[in-house]
Amino acid sequence: MATPITIARGDGIGPEIMEATLRILQAAKARVTFHEIEIGEKIYRQGHTSGIRPEDWRLLRDNRIFLKAPITTPGGGGYKSLNVTIRKTLGLFANVRPCRSLHPFVPTRFPDIDMVIIRENEEDLYAGIEHRQTQDTVQCLKLITRPGSEKIMHYAFEYARTAGRRKVTCMAKDNIMKLTDGLFHRIFDEVGVQYPKIEKEFKIIDIGSALLADRPGEFDVVVTQNLYGDIISDIVALISGSVGMAGSANIGETFAMFEAIHGSAPDIAGQGIANPSGLLNGAIMMLTHIGQGDVAALIQNAWLRTLEEGIHTGDIYREEISRKKVGTAEFADAVIANLGRKPEILEAAATASGQGIRIPPFRREHQLKELVGVDLFIDWTAGTAEDLGHLLAQLPLRHLKLKMITNRGVKVFPDGLPETFCSDHWRCRFVHREASNRTVDPDYRPIAFEGVLELLHVAHAAGLEPIKTENLYLFDHKPGFSLGQGE
Ligand code: NAD
Repeated sequence: MATPITIARGDGIGPEIMEATLRILQAAKARVTFHEIEIGEKIYRQGHTSGIRPEDWRLLRDNRIFLKAPITTPGGGGYKSLNVTIRKTLGLFANVRPCRSLHPFVPTRFPDIDMVIIRENEEDLYAGIEHRQTQDTVQCLKLITRPGSEKIMHYAFEYARTAGRRKVTCMAKDNIMKLTDGLFHRIFDEVGVQYPKIEKEFKIIDIGSALLADRPGEFDVVVTQNLYGDIISDIVALISGSVGMAGSANIGETFAMFEAIHGSAPDIAGQGIANPSGLLNGAIMMLTHIGQGDVAALIQNAWLRTLEEGIHTGDIYREEISRKKVGTAEFADAVIANLGRKPEILEAAATASGQGIRIPPFRREHQLKELVGVDLFIDWTAGTAEDLGHLLAQLPLRHLKLKMITNRGVKVFPDGLPETFCSDHWRCRFVHREASNRTVDPDYRPIAFEGVLELLHVAHAAGLEPIKTENLYLFDHKPGFSLGQGE
């Protein structure tokens, strides 16, 4: 039975590399039928701000498998990234990006790269929740959830186990973002315990990225957050040969989308010179995912053989090692001609698809949640931190009192330093009027929500402009908020 697949040719080099990929799939007799939808720039320009016509969601959801060429998200405001929208709307929580060097046939300084980057695909700064709060200040919310992090950690370890990989490295920045990245790291440790045979390591993302670029051969499976994963997978794809080589799978519980990791490359669009390997590798992962590992291997072997023969597109062409420089269509012809042949030197890689990986259902454990204060953010340009501090300290509040003020996270009141630059965006922390010696920090004791409402009312009446509030909670008596730098 042929599996129905939705395809989209996308923008820029998209149509060229999709055409090459489809020709190879057909020549290899992949048991699939194609249903085409149009997405991307043209659809954006027709006024669909998410880059897809509303009626096309139905086909996508019916088929459950999507092979997508890169698209161009028009610059400027008002357009949402279609890639991000599809990944999040269809629950594609794991982005799987295998990168492997094909030394000596594809030029790379690192002959030993064989890595799979597993990127959390739905959360983090890519939630796309941004606000301009004052004239000078914009914010982007970074959302990390326990269920989202558990899912990606289970996926990464299960992927490593089923693909016979030896090590999983987690990367994040929890020395700075102790709550968000701290949660991600903690869940890596929690889930990792269930895999005693797999080696586990954690790297802070900055040194982790440096090591990836310097000695990538030491890494095996890397699991990380959305933004970090986006960045490091481009780095690893590039140093292993070309961004034009790597494919990616976006995996959800019921739906999966396959693509190249690169973008629409407008600089070379229409010239017929793009490397179709990234999308082809996405299609190979798709075939494995839908249970056609035989066709996947047939194509992959033909592709490896073609690279071994030195038939190379411009991005990987080097006089010393290449035999013939070809365009997109000619490269596809060479792969088709090699169907049925195997590489002579390169190992035919087994492409694990992540298919059949079951994620245990999320179980929420009840925790005691207590409101112990509130951060009031205000837009203010009328004076110094001292001026604002004295103004807020004198507000006629019955429930709360000012504890401190920070500007861009640094404490500026009380006892600020004159050197600290202050923007128009102030975070003013209010806590219970009376300290208590029964809580860990005497200032953080339960307050009634009426205190928050009163604060907003009184601040507004005093001529201040609250931008927003963030409640401060203890969970099982532990703070669910960061302290101000210097608090
Ligand atoms: P890009 O990946 O399109 O191009 C970066 C560089 O790599 C360019 O020099 C390009 O010529 C080269 N390159 C990329 N793919 C190649 C291939 N297959 N063969 C040979 N060379 C290749 O990144 P960009 O220029 O930053 O982005 C262009 C557009 O793509 C933007 O609109 C961006 O939003 C979009 N984009 C889309 C996706 C997607 O649809 N999944 C992903 C990333 C970027």
